[in-house]
Amino acid sequence: MSSYEAVIGLEIHVQVKSRTKMFTAAPYHYGAAPNTLTDAVVLGLPGTLPVLNHVAIEQCAKLGLMLGCEIAAVCKWDRKNYFYPDSPKNYQLTQNEEPLCIGGKVEIELPGPSRNVEGVHRWVELNRIHLEEDPGKLTHEAFETLIDFNRAGVPLAEIVTEPDMSSSTEAVAFLNCLRNMIIYAGISDCNMEKGQMRCDANVSIRPIGCDKLGTRTEMKNLNSISNVKASIEYEIERQAEILEEGGTITQETRRWDVDKGISFSLRSKEEAHDYRYFPDPDLMPVQMDRARVAELEAELPERPLDKQRRYQTDFSLPFTITSVLCQNCELSEFFETALETHNAPKAIANYITNDLLRELSAASEHGDSALSVGQCQLTPAHIATLVKIIDEGVISKHIGKEVFTEMFASGEMPDAIIDKNGLKQSNDTGEVEALCREAIAGNAKAVGQYKNGNEKALNALKGPVMKATKGKANPAMLDQLLKRLIDAG
Ligand code: ADP
Ligand code: MG
Repeated sequence: MSSYEAVIGLEIHVQVKSRTKMFTAAPYHYGAAPNTLTDAVVLGLPGTLPVLNHVAIEQCAKLGLMLGCEIAAVCKWDRKNYFYPDSPKNYQLTQNEEPLCIGGKVEIELPGPSRNVEGVHRWVELNRIHLEEDPGKLTHEAFETLIDFNRAGVPLAEIVTEPDMSSSTEAVAFLNCLRNMIIYAGISDCNMEKGQMRCDANVSIRPIGCDKLGTRTEMKNLNSISNVKASIEYEIERQAEILEEGGTITQETRRWDVDKGISFSLRSKEEAHDYRYFPDPDLMPVQMDRARVAELEAELPERPLDKQRRYQTDFSLPFTITSVLCQNCELSEFFETALETHNAPKAIANYITNDLLRELSAASEHGDSALSVGQCQLTPAHIATLVKIIDEGVISKHIGKEVFTEMFASGEMPDAIIDKNGLKQSNDTGEVEALCREAIAGNAKAVGQYKNGNEKALNALKGPVMKATKGKANPAMLDQLLKRLIDAG
């Protein structure tokens, strides 16, 4: 393999959020009984006509804007003709000649040398994004094939990249970044298990330094990121072995076998002319309203990697924190709402990325899927108030952790928990002073070490005081008090 380099282009189908199908009012939702979400248009009955779903068009335009595409002034519908039982009309409505979104590029972040170090960023070029309808689902049994038309007609945006990636690592980084952006913009939940995002991987290899693209194969319908990764790696190896033995690569469509971890040839690659594309005579071209496109653009959320950069610059947060906060728009929104109550970005970010996520994952161990921030009782105000109380010196950081755990479990506000359990930090100098005197009297060795310049020796004196006050002594006050008493004595 060392003398070859890989070239990868991806085609990603994303199911855009919409109550109804692409060309009819039949609804779609995941998990319905087979063939209950159909109508005459979905089944391609004679005499039916398609009616455009405007929500799907807006969602796709939004997607294009998020990914830096040019939004076409006019887009058109074509019939892609093929004969197969998943499509009762014998054609799929798609956009071949004039897609809705043209060009575009996606910023990706490659994994760093370790989890704590930010990796290199680069841009992956897109070719286009077009809208099309999903076909039905076939289930092949031993002696029969079952057809479910629930998915048939569901609106899909197909994102086509340029052959602009060169490893499975880049492809995975691309898919993760793309997925994040789509979820941020509310275009799709991109749940691959529910078929909301599927990927075809086109792979070729060529001698290093050669400009000409090699012959590619296309792996169809990969339904998880780990399958994309494994199938690309397998394909690069397979092609390299063929070329090294003096063979040639056949342009073909392949299928990835998840269980065996290998791919096999499905069919020789069809060419565009095999599909006899022609403009659909039943659908008008769509004129995009420029004012509406501008409105959609103005409503776009900040892109995740832009947000990550902003958090690093404006709040001086480290990559280890920003990478966690910004990968999940729910988390970053939670964080920003908390800042409105109390502007302490570092402490709040720490509570969210460490304590909150730890409690969420512990809580979800009892259920089967990870709990999300929206599913717990904690609000941004809980965390912001807790940090504020700590910053004001009412409780110590140490007690703060205890309050957090209880707050997470009960949903009570921190002040209530502190009052109820008498957790207020003791700023009562009298009581603490007496305890300090005791500690000094009881540990001449530590006092001596401190007097000889060893500041850390004070910790041995703080320990018993903290213990006696159950952690409620104000640490800064304790520090000052001990020094004053020793210096005076
Ligand atoms: P089709 O529509 O027939 O599948 P396209 O030319 O639209 O073909 O390309 C589909 C995908 O294949 C794109 O993502 C593109 O980047 C990728 N691709 C094209 N040629 C190559 C190649 N030689 N190696 C790897 N990927 C390729
Ligand atoms: Mg293709």
